[in-house]
Amino acid sequence: MDFSFSDEQQLLRENTAEFLEKNLQPFVRSIDDNGEIPENFFKKAGENGIISPLINGKYGGPGLSFMDSVIISEEIAKVDTSMATSVYYLLNTSWAYILQKYGKEELKGRLLPDIANGNRFIGIASTEPSGGSDVANITTTGEIKDGKVIINGEKMYISGAVEARKNGGGHLTLVKTDKSRGHKGITMVYVPADTEGVEITKLQNMGRMGISTSGIKYDNVEVPEENIIGKINEGFYYSMDGFNHARIMVAAACNGLSVKMLDEGVKYIKERSAFGKKLGDFEAIAFEAADLNTEIEMASLLNYKSAYMADMNDPDFYIFSSMSKLTSPQIAMDTVKKVMMWFGAYGYTRDSGIERSARGIFSYLVGAEGALNIMKMIISRAMLK
Ligand SMILES: Cc1cc2nc3c(=O)[nH]c(=O)nc-3n(C[C@H](O)[C@H](O)[C@H](O)COP(=O)(O)OP(=O)(O)OC[C@H]3O[C@@H](n4cnc5c(N)ncnc54)[C@H](O)[C@@H]3O)c2cc1C
Repeated sequence: MDFSFSDEQQLLRENTAEFLEKNLQPFVRSIDDNGEIPENFFKKAGENGIISPLINGKYGGPGLSFMDSVIISEEIAKVDTSMATSVYYLLNTSWAYILQKYGKEELKGRLLPDIANGNRFIGIASTEPSGGSDVANITTTGEIKDGKVIINGEKMYISGAVEARKNGGGHLTLVKTDKSRGHKGITMVYVPADTEGVEITKLQNMGRMGISTSGIKYDNVEVPEENIIGKINEGFYYSMDGFNHARIMVAAACNGLSVKMLDEGVKYIKERSAFGKKLGDFEAIAFEAADLNTEIEMASLLNYKSAYMADMNDPDFYIFSSMSKLTSPQIAMDTVKKVMMWFGAYGYTRDSGIERSARGIFSYLVGAEGALNIMKMIISRAMLK
């Protein structure tokens, strides 16, 4: 068992951190205030191979590993702690991976190079107004006829629809192609956001302002049959594969955020005084710091194991990525909360940046990439089967 990163991975971390310091850090406040990540950032990130790192050389990507992708995700979240850039990255990474793994050659050749170079967004449209956890019971239909898929229905809480419409991207969309077969009647189809009949309504979120969340209505939307990912009626399995891998990126972002928040907190309690002592000299606060440090280390190690298992194609990796998704958002929330309390009133101001993290991290607690109870369901089912 080797717990060290390779020299290349350490260099990747350093180079990524340096790139983000220069190209993302100056914009973090405006990303949250204005609700937009500068387009230029994605182009530059694409040039540096860090916007969709799993895309391989054949399609213009760097062909990095899941472990490498985790390193990048951690670094992004340390800079844009609102989680907006992390979410854009996680979607482009995980769902480009699914397109690359199961998509048809023509579609991959058409989409992947632009995703790799930061010019096109790709996301997932699974959740519907009636719920997100029970994927098997989606009701959006896809009728396959005359070389086309005709889509009718509605998706809800979908990340990146506005961005996709702007930059020629779209979503891997789950549709029912056989109503009688439950989860075995679901097909995954790539739907460009600018297709006729696609209506996007932006929702107002409490956080991660730099990436949109929307409802999407489909009114007789037609896409060519070539846009079907893999086999008809196998879409449920492809989506689970995608979610399992996306969960590693979610956990990595949460862990990166936790590291950054704790760093800032420790700096603060070493400087701020009360009752003639530094805050860090009070055991009540120092012990909290010790607990958080230990928890963040545990969460990071668990997630490195998940990424390692994904890289090894270990069939049990989904159990570990679910454990990571269960653990890291809760630890990140706890870290943000405790650090905010160390900061006192300053922590509640927009200037401190902590409230930005608190608003962002909630999205991972409530649901994005799977609710926490669903993670417990996956883990317990694997234990008890
Ligand atoms: C900011 C944000 C962005 C998102 N982006 C996307 C996206 O890009 N694409 C996409 O498809 N979806 C997206 N989602 C939706 C996300 O996938 C869902 O929130 C998630 O799957 C949960 O679905 P739900 O919100 O409908 O909650 P529900 O499924 O209605 O569940 C509500 C609550 O009940 C609990 N629950 C449900 N079933 C059980 C059970 N059997 N046992 C115990 N508890 C249970 C859940 O844990 C949850 O706490 C996003 C969500 C958020 C918050």
